[in-house]
Amino acid sequence: MRRETPLRRSLTARLLALSALVSLCSIAATAWLAARTTTGAIQQEQTQAVADHTRIYRQLLGYAATHPDWSGAQDTVRQLAAATGQRIVLATPRFEQVVDSAAGGPPAQGLAADRTPTAIVDPLSVDLAMLPDAPADRIDARAVGPFRLTAEEHEALRNELEQQAGCVRSLLGVEATVVDDLAGRPQLRTADGRTLGRRCTTPLVVSAPTRTEAAALADLTDLANACLARRQLRPVTLSLGPDGAPDDSGQDRATSACVTNARRQQLVQYVAPPVLLFVGTPAAASSGGPPVLTAAHPGRVTEVSALVLAVTVAVTVAVGLRLSKPLHALTHAARRMADGDLTARVRVTGRNEISGLAAAFNAMAERRGQLEELRKAMVGDIAHELRTPLSNIRGWLEAVEDGVATADRALTGSLLEEAMLLQHLIDDLRDLAAADAGELVLYRELVDVEEMLGQVASAHGARAGEVALTVEAEAPEVFADPVRLRQALGNLVSNAVRYTPAGGSVALRARRGTDAVLIEVADTGSGIAAEDLPLVFERFWRAERSRSRRSGGSGLGLAIVRKIVELHGGEVRVASTVGEGSVFTVRLPAPPVS
Ligand code: ADP
Repeated sequence: MRRETPLRRSLTARLLALSALVSLCSIAATAWLAARTTTGAIQQEQTQAVADHTRIYRQLLGYAATHPDWSGAQDTVRQLAAATGQRIVLATPRFEQVVDSAAGGPPAQGLAADRTPTAIVDPLSVDLAMLPDAPADRIDARAVGPFRLTAEEHEALRNELEQQAGCVRSLLGVEATVVDDLAGRPQLRTADGRTLGRRCTTPLVVSAPTRTEAAALADLTDLANACLARRQLRPVTLSLGPDGAPDDSGQDRATSACVTNARRQQLVQYVAPPVLLFVGTPAAASSGGPPVLTAAHPGRVTEVSALVLAVTVAVTVAVGLRLSKPLHALTHAARRMADGDLTARVRVTGRNEISGLAAAFNAMAERRGQLEELRKAMVGDIAHELRTPLSNIRGWLEAVEDGVATADRALTGSLLEEAMLLQHLIDDLRDLAAADAGELVLYRELVDVEEMLGQVASAHGARAGEVALTVEAEAPEVFADPVRLRQALGNLVSNAVRYTPAGGSVALRARRGTDAVLIEVADTGSGIAAEDLPLVFERFWRAERSRSRRSGGSGLGLAIVRKIVELHGGEVRVASTVGEGSVFTVRLPAPPVS
């Protein structure tokens, strides 16, 4: 019955499915990994960029708060650019370049091309998005203008606070130090982080505003009150807060707005004018920004995946076809053989597993052919062997029936001999068939070799006639099936006697080898030609093709000898010289030592 492999179960289809699955998995894993790593890297870069921007902004804001213009900012900008690895450009609100960290490098237009600054640096209007911890009035704490203490005032205030710190330490047991705040004004700071300033509630003298501060405060109050008057609001008297800055707490919103405006008005001449800040990586300035994942990328990933998949499929199909071609040839040859064509062979190419299989198939086909030849020859031989004695029996019986011959004692003896020959042939065939099928069971025991050789010699003594039979045994015992061993030795002695002319001799010898017992049957008979020696143990092989009944047996004798000896774990060999005689040597394993 022919069974074609369905396409879905074919080797190529399975290989294809497997490799498609593997490549899909690896594409997915690679894409996932790449996306994760890239996203992580971008996030890290963004976090770093935000930190860098804040740092740059805060520092430039400090510069602007303490300088009336940007003329000396080049060094600060350069240092910042070197520390952050960013290119920094400052420009006026009309995009006129003020400072460029890469002065002398490529023009800054690229950086400002999109005209969206990173931030606006204005100490009087701090960008809360950049510095969320800025004061509520958005005036940078470092912008003090006319409130800046003179050196003497600073020194005096510091000394006064040092004394207070000593008192705090000794009276309250609290660690206290004097530090300058953001505005550059000395402050008393305790170990727990609280700034006592001039609100120190200890019975210590609280320092009043210095002369400079008082003057600036008066100016500020005037400015604020002018604004309040315009809005018809009540005038205020401003004082310094705990942080040294003018205090407008407790005022309503409108008043606070006037105070803040007044502060801006007062400080504007002391701080640098607002500038646009542009920050970017040096490469980004010319290439237009760092590489980022855009909507085009997923499409590209799909394209590459499809390409990888297509290549995988093409390669797999090619490999699959290459693999399955010799397998198809093998299947075809095996089917031809099953249909009875014993000449079916496959071409062996290369040195891989499939060519190994093809070579094994060819060897099997070759062996099968030989066995078939052997079987045919054997059937022919058996038919021939049976035909001769049967023809004899039939011929004589017909002669008796026709009255041509009389059924006397001599005739019945001759017929009996032919019948026994037939019996012998059938027994031999049965033994061989049983041995081939592994059904020839041995009943082993310790056998006295000398005794056995004596029995075999005397059994053939009558037939030996003019041939002298001698026994010479030195080996004590073998572990064997006595019936089968006697059968094998009997066949050898029977042959020896048959092929030895009158006056010759047959010697049965046994001796012990190193790990075996050697039994020899040596005759001084016709001998066997050297080219025939490898054939004597084959079934139905005879040197004398005529198969004469006088000299011939069944043609199976030596084949049976070899089978029996091999079943005992031994081997049988022959050495012979034409005209001088033959020596058959049976080698059996020495019996186990008990
Ligand atoms: P057969 O029944 O013909 O003896 P065997 O298998 O016993 O069959 O022997 C096969 C052939 O081997 C014999 O026909 C004979 O030609 C040759 N042969 C066997 N034993 C001897 C021997 N002792 N001397 C010479 N030829 C022998």
